[in-house]
Amino acid sequence: MKKITTNVYVESELSVCNSSCVVTKDGVVVIDTPMVPANAKKHAAAILKFGQVRYVINTEPHGDHISGNCYFGGTHIAHDGTRDAILASKVEDIKGMLQMISPGAALDNDFRYRPSDITFSHRLTFYLGDHSFHLFNMPGHSPHQIAVYVPEERIIFTSDNISRGLPFFRQALPAEWLKTLKELQKFDVDYVVPGHGDVGDKSCITEMQKTVSTWINTVKEAIAKGMTLKEVQQKVTMHKQFPDLPRDERTTGVVSMNVTRLYEVLKK
Ligand SMILES: [Zn+2]
Repeated sequence: MKKITTNVYVESELSVCNSSCVVTKDGVVVIDTPMVPANAKKHAAAILKFGQVRYVINTEPHGDHISGNCYFGGTHIAHDGTRDAILASKVEDIKGMLQMISPGAALDNDFRYRPSDITFSHRLTFYLGDHSFHLFNMPGHSPHQIAVYVPEERIIFTSDNISRGLPFFRQALPAEWLKTLKELQKFDVDYVVPGHGDVGDKSCITEMQKTVSTWINTVKEAIAKGMTLKEVQQKVTMHKQFPDLPRDERTTGVVSMNVTRLYEVLKK
């Protein structure tokens, strides 16, 4: 766990996404939970030294952010759409994800999909100890993304609307995503905690604006040239735009998924 500010810690090694915690004088708020059961348990035990977990916030509906919920106590909070996604999740989903991301990792008898206790659609604010937690629905990577702003620590947790590796567009709303990134620029913060990758300052919002625009513009150009979906899937590898992109099977699969989603949304 890395200490970011006086009261904020981010775990990125045990967790597939960033799993963060904010320590208040009345207990701990956890933001996203590790996906691999053994790691979620380890992380939950490590957090106990800071105090009791009072709240768990899930910033988005995807398995890498919500699957470890059952190993954490407290009251769980998420966007309406994230709770629906947790309720619709099947054990096969996490088995498949574990196979892909952490082969050999097993489920244990304690595993279950733990749904949220409190949900919201636009914004929600709560207070704990001397801290305030401002939750905003910020559609982009999915319609149900939320950002968590903690002004007392001058920090914002952005979910996968900022992801410092290969972005995923499977459920993305491209126009909304760019609008959200513009909104994120308005927060007066020193630290930005992305869904995946290193904690940064506001420059990582600008970096993500460039990344998302490049993906959108590339597919827009392909559509303007009259390319069919099949041609886009075959020809748009994104290696010209992002020379460092790995050339493995998994990356190729994600790129194909991303351009498919963008083609379908932008063609309309
Ligand atoms: Zn996601």
